[in-house]
Amino acid sequence: MDRIFMMFTLLRHIRCVNRWYAKVRGYPWLPCPLCGTYYGGHEVTGASIPQLDRPGYGWCVCFRAECQREAHYRWTAAWGHL
Ligand SMILES: [Zn+2]
Repeated sequence: MDRIFMMFTLLRHIRCVNRWYAKVRGYPWLPCPLCGTYYGGHEVTGASIPQLDRPGYGWCVCFRAECQREAHYRWTAAWGHL
């Protein structure tokens, strides 16, 4: 099980594979609003930073743990625990 998890973790960091997958499947390929890392729509985790002018709406961030944490912090600071 650990081997499979490690394989997917490594695969996640090979950006050209993910870019190819996003293109083939028709997913968007956009930079993360926090760190600038390009990621595909298939990698969206649900974490997003709040759009302060649109309550409840946010900009998705990439899969990196730092961005996930920062998004969670900003989201809860803006809207609380939704
Ligand atoms: Zn990021």
